[in-house]
Amino acid sequence: MKLASDIGKCQGYGNCIAADEKHFDLDDDGLVVLLEETVTDDEKATVEAAIRSCPVDAIWLEVAK
Ligand code: SF4
Repeated sequence: MKLASDIGKCQGYGNCIAADEKHFDLDDDGLVVLLEETVTDDEKATVEAAIRSCPVDAIWLEVAK
């Protein structure tokens, strides 16, 4: 699975980083950066918790086609 983000929506709340420091960080402008786009099956639950914690839906998992 692959992570995606829309920094145009990100408000820099940092909830995603609190939930998952491996995949998310904030850049110098205080907007989300994906440290790792690939999500393994073992990491999925943690990543999904981070996605749910984002109040503005700025991060999501891309569905494989
Ligand atoms: S939780 Fe959402 S708004 Fe907050 S830093 Fe992460 S992506 Fe941005």
